Amino acid sequence: MSASLSAAGVRWSLDDLEPDAETARREWDELLARARDFAERRRGTIGSAGPQGLRELLDELDELHADLNRVHFYATAREHTDANDAETNDLATLARDRAADLESLLLFVELEWIALDDAEADALLAASELEPYAHRLRVAREEKPYVLPEGEEQALNARRPAISAWQSLHGRELATLTVEFDGGEGPEPHTIDRLLSYVHHPDRELRIAALETLYEALDQVADVQAACYDALVGDRLSVDRLRGIPHPMDPTNRANELDDDVVEAMMRAVEENYPLARRWFERKAQVLGLDKLQLADQYAPVGSDRRVEWDEAVQMVDDSLSDFAPRLGEIFRDCLERGHIDAEPRAGKVGGAYCHSVSKTILPYVLMNYTDRIGDVSTLAHEFGHVVHGTLSLERQTYRSYHTGLALAEVPSTFAQLLAVERLIDAEEIPSTRAMLLADRAEGACAAIFRQTMMARFEQWAYGVRGEGKGLTKDRLAEAWLEQNARYYADSLELPDGYRLGWSYIPHFIHVRFYTYAYSFAHLVAFSLVARYREDPETFAPAYLDFLASGASRSPQELLAPLGVDLRDPETWAVAFAEFDRCVAEAEEGVAALDDSD
Ligand SMILES: [Zn+2]
Repeated sequence: MSASLSAAGVRWSLDDLEPDAETARREWDELLARARDFAERRRGTIGSAGPQGLRELLDELDELHADLNRVHFYATAREHTDANDAETNDLATLARDRAADLESLLLFVELEWIALDDAEADALLAASELEPYAHRLRVAREEKPYVLPEGEEQALNARRPAISAWQSLHGRELATLTVEFDGGEGPEPHTIDRLLSYVHHPDRELRIAALETLYEALDQVADVQAACYDALVGDRLSVDRLRGIPHPMDPTNRANELDDDVVEAMMRAVEENYPLARRWFERKAQVLGLDKLQLADQYAPVGSDRRVEWDEAVQMVDDSLSDFAPRLGEIFRDCLERGHIDAEPRAGKVGGAYCHSVSKTILPYVLMNYTDRIGDVSTLAHEFGHVVHGTLSLERQTYRSYHTGLALAEVPSTFAQLLAVERLIDAEEIPSTRAMLLADRAEGACAAIFRQTMMARFEQWAYGVRGEGKGLTKDRLAEAWLEQNARYYADSLELPDGYRLGWSYIPHFIHVRFYTYAYSFAHLVAFSLVARYREDPETFAPAYLDFLASGASRSPQELLAPLGVDLRDPETWAVAFAEFDRCVAEAEEGVAALDDSD
């Protein structure tokens, strides 16, 4: 398949990380020796080192972590692109073991820092020497009230393999589930992911049949999936009680550095705007010639796709970034020239897309699977939104201070994606392709903003019910899932009965609680930023570059304020929804143009 795709041969070069596996193995040994030496010299000195001493200690630790990240990513990158190679697999196993050893050797720094009393810590935080680390150090101390004595922490840590056993059981049940389905070429075994991909198929009967088959298949594993979720939620709540965590969303909100009431105000604003999605679903039903959409029609194609070759996509993303700020275009081209992107889909390579930042001296790496669809351009832009963020923040910040929490981390990528898509739309001459792009943008926003918030409400319900001592059974989950979905879709779309199992294949529920709302947050903030940029591009662009270079050196509230986005002001969400409304209105115009041309 790859030979006919235009990104054939676009594979990354890992030379900037390591020359070969043998050198990587040697470096793991050296890293371990360095960490042991570091721990021997530094253990027990955090409180007595003084500002200058602590600065030196943190600089040394930063360098260790950056080297660890580089050597570790070399193994991961090989594993992700060459899963069947024996040398690669050995190296990946070594990397996982060594990384765990190193983490435990270095953990004392955080623990000793948290253990200092407030007066000692405040005196250190006030020192100019520690300024580059101050915000992250302050954030780390917010854990203090919830940290247990070392022995108890170790006992809790010892449960990790059991916890991940539940998580991998959940994943394995889904990954190994295959069912016969006829996608048009005779009955064939289908995985869950492949069945789900039919929601984009133009043939309605096929879409509906694929979902029916999916739900029948899920029914076989739903009891196990419910048991996994019940065990994990129950465990998290028990540990929360031991630690005195105030509410189930608190650890996620703290990691995102977002106040509870900011998150709640955002979620309420999202819910108040559910009618915006319903307006689109009703319009889409008309376009498809239906009285009402079924769930299987939600992502049905509108208009027509267009082939975009790799070189054209590169040019478009380059232009989009360079027009915003020449420096961003430079970073993009540097990454490409140094072979820091792997875009060719091929056997033995993982699906999906990501960006991995490495260190102050090495540019980030991007993995994606470019399939010549116009939608892939937006994925390329998204990942390079992460790249420019990682590059600029690593230039100015310490390694410890460059990486933000999840919610903020998705803002620059979504922003870059929105800019590139806007450019694609403006340049598109074929009305049916333009309609497709406009519909895709609106539907992507609905999925990120509305659906993820709906899922976060479902999680709140699950933790609430489990906290009252009721089990999360398959039937109870099904009922709540349908209830939350009905709040979103109302009667704009028909939910099939099988959709009661829709909760059973969402990996975020299992892996990171309340990960879901980060997508809503990032998309809404990116919408606000696009609106601010349009108002005053000259002032906005330099302020935005400064925001990128600021990394995680301040809180999201402080970082976004200079861009005109005040997270505590309800107006921020109103601006975002005005932008969202504009996208839906343009999608409506796009499909109206289709009617005219018929
Ligand atoms: Zn992303």
